[in-house]
Amino acid sequence: MDNKNLEKYAHLLIKMGLNIQKGQTLVVRAPIECAEFARLCAKNAYEEGAREVIMYWQDDLSLKMKYLYADDEIFDEYPDWLREFYLSHARKNAAFLSIAASDPELLKDIDPKKLVRQHKVSSQAIKEYRDRLMSNKNVWCIASIPTVSWATKVFPDVSENESVELLWDAIFKAMRVDKEDPIKAWEDHKNNLKKSMEFLNTSKFKSLKIKNSLGTDLEIELPEGHIWVGGSEFTPEGIEFIANMPTEEVFTLPKKTGVNGIVYSTKPLNQNGKLIDEFSITFKDGAIVDFTAKKGYETLKEIVETDEGSKYLGEVALVPYDSPISKSNILFYNTLYDENASCHLAIGRAYPSCLKNGENMTEEELDKHGVNQSINHVDFMFGTKDLQIIGITQDGKEIKVFENGNFSY
Ligand code: ZN
Ligand code: ZN
Repeated sequence: MDNKNLEKYAHLLIKMGLNIQKGQTLVVRAPIECAEFARLCAKNAYEEGAREVIMYWQDDLSLKMKYLYADDEIFDEYPDWLREFYLSHARKNAAFLSIAASDPELLKDIDPKKLVRQHKVSSQAIKEYRDRLMSNKNVWCIASIPTVSWATKVFPDVSENESVELLWDAIFKAMRVDKEDPIKAWEDHKNNLKKSMEFLNTSKFKSLKIKNSLGTDLEIELPEGHIWVGGSEFTPEGIEFIANMPTEEVFTLPKKTGVNGIVYSTKPLNQNGKLIDEFSITFKDGAIVDFTAKKGYETLKEIVETDEGSKYLGEVALVPYDSPISKSNILFYNTLYDENASCHLAIGRAYPSCLKNGENMTEEELDKHGVNQSINHVDFMFGTKDLQIIGITQDGKEIKVFENGNFSY
């Protein structure tokens, strides 16, 4: 492993991802396998003036044991101390770094009802924390590094060591860490994303018509005051940060009740270790009214039936077909990477920051403006080489947005 690249990567996350400020506390959530890298991030954060770095270690295998053997009733509980942990740090303006590197199949044999129950109580218990992050009140960043269990899933045909090396390589490329000056490379990348955002934001489309030869034929209405975001985001105090690294998308929210037609998936969706593949979803007035899946139908059904909002969409994201992660042609089994390889939609919750003044609205106001709410936010990919997107302007004009899978402006 190239230590110089590791240093560059850690520095990139602290400086560009979180933009850590002097005197700020950093909370790092990382699998124990990633301890070495997490410590490197901590060192970097201290060098940038962090007040304190707090490690919250995760252990996949203990988690699996819990789901297999713990008392059934604990899946309806959420520990007070953990709630306090998240809330107290969030209220004190901490930065949150999360290393996502779990075995994609860790929980595949676990009763999905247990997972849903636990997800429901945790969403409720730390709602304030989640809302703060979703509306950019705290800076946060999710990034990934290889673990053996993840790497061997992505590269099953080589030795363990080789798979880890290959995954590091893919991650360094996607993160532009292989470039001489990754920070500069990200500045350029951010500017490119800004161009796409400006085109979409000045066009103020009323709706998007999306088609390809797979059969996708979907019209997505965009709410008044929608904002396309991408690359970096800003806290109310004006601190710039990048919540997902890598990121190749520009995205906004669909109007909750304004989605009609059918969309076909183009990559498998990994939900808690269960794959849903070759699926289609049909919408009427925003609601999912039908779906099919060659693989994982029951899992898709569980996602859709989680709560009221999980029958609606919360995100439409555009990613060029020739983006670097797409070109790598690797299936990562990790949403952070796979969603940045393809245009995607998300079933469930929308980001309030995608609506003008959305951060300051109550739930009722958000609902009135067509902002979907749910405890789910599940991204699935629909981008293809021949994807065509037409934007319909407020006065009914048609403007090409995507042609042959890429932006056409
Ligand atoms: Zn997205
Ligand atoms: Zn998403």
